[in-house]
Amino acid sequence: MNPPHDLNKLWQAVLGELEINTSRASFKTWFHNTRLIELNDRDALVGVPSNFVKTWLESRLHTEITQTIRRLTSQRLRVRYQIKQLQLPEANPTKLFGQPAPSPNPVAPSPVQTPVRASLTINRANTFETFVVGPSNRLAAASAQVVAKDPGRRHNPLFLYGGVGLGKTHLMHAIANEVSQRQPVKVLYIQCEDFTNEFVNAIQTKRTDLFKQKYRSIDLFLVDDIQFLSRKEGTQEEFFHTFNALHQSGRQIVMTSDRTPRQIPDLKERLSSRFAMGMVADIQPPDLETRQAIIQHKTTQQKRRLDPEVVEFLARKITTNIRHLEGALNRLFGHADLTQKNPTLEVAQEVLADLFTGKTNVSKTRVLETVARYFDLEVSAVLSQRRNRELVYPRQICMYLMRHELDLSYPVIGQSLGGKDHTTIMHGVSVIERQLAKSTEVKNHLSQIKDRLNSS
Ligand code: ADP
Ligand code: MG
Repeated sequence: MNPPHDLNKLWQAVLGELEINTSRASFKTWFHNTRLIELNDRDALVGVPSNFVKTWLESRLHTEITQTIRRLTSQRLRVRYQIKQLQLPEANPTKLFGQPAPSPNPVAPSPVQTPVRASLTINRANTFETFVVGPSNRLAAASAQVVAKDPGRRHNPLFLYGGVGLGKTHLMHAIANEVSQRQPVKVLYIQCEDFTNEFVNAIQTKRTDLFKQKYRSIDLFLVDDIQFLSRKEGTQEEFFHTFNALHQSGRQIVMTSDRTPRQIPDLKERLSSRFAMGMVADIQPPDLETRQAIIQHKTTQQKRRLDPEVVEFLARKITTNIRHLEGALNRLFGHADLTQKNPTLEVAQEVLADLFTGKTNVSKTRVLETVARYFDLEVSAVLSQRRNRELVYPRQICMYLMRHELDLSYPVIGQSLGGKDHTTIMHGVSVIERQLAKSTEVKNHLSQIKDRLNSS
């Protein structure tokens, strides 16, 4: 093929693209330790660390991966995946109950005994050193540092909340990294949805004893995106007991969420009051200076250079989500490497043009009309209080788009949709967020609607 592609650079460029287009929070976990291992004029072979990741990419992201590779190489390649242990897992597998006691040297990699579930890993790169602090996240960062220095004593539990891509998971991992560097402790990091699934599974297989043992023997318990406990009564009950057992014996608990404990719909009061009894700290979107500092930091980390005008351009254009900032940066560097051009302002404007089109011109009315037309409904029906399925789903799509595309607050969205309560909106948005991770149909709906929104 001509010119011969540097496999690494090409894959970095692919990831840069995917990161921007995949709003999924778990982007990093799925592409961690993946690599392009072979490329000929028919096939692209992607090396992945486990069968679990392979299946997931095949079933959820195959189309996007294929399209991106084809676009960047201008060839109609077929993408395949192969399990390949690419390097020693960089991530620190969490120590689960029943595994041998942690080795005296906490830095030595411990053997992985259970299949590594992606959500159970701590990203070593997420430390306090790599976290840029500004006014928007100062309280959260400081609280996390306190917890890392003195786990189980002050700020227990620590509850971090804020919007998508603002560094909640990063801070949680930073705590785990710092604590486990200092002393051998049992750390368990889990996404709330996985906790729920595991619990349901334990009930079905009648192994709740094992489940209880596992969760009650932890020193540092990190639960990400706890808002997913909403409405899951059985899991809430179990979580309540786990929480109490750990808390009473002085073990540290850290939770993240996209909203405060009290704002999580249908969360039992005894849980929300417990979640709030330690330290509750918010993370807000970063201001311009902090965004510039973050871009600088990430550029230096990659041993690169960017003109200040490019840094400012990016910081002004991408305002609400640091993952998008990283994605844009990776796309820019990936592109510059592939074309062997300097990442100048002109290159940045060209390469990132699609990120900025339309978005700010899209209005609430336009979202509403576009969604209604897409589903062949009257706007008035979408705004009504009727609860038929054919109406509820489009309505929730509106909520999702108003939240994610227009960055509107929940109450404002509620008003725009015919005077609905903000908790209804929160629920609606999270329903779509969840479905988006599972259903290609929902994904397709959204991408088609977004296309319509952004075209003239
Ligand atoms: P959240 O869990 O809040 O959705 P993450 O913790 O996953 O967000 O952060 C998204 C990305 O942005 C991660 O790659 C993280 O390392 C990075 N990030 C977030 N905040 C900062 C920050 N203050 N400094 C440096 N990187 C950050
Ligand atoms: Mg997160």
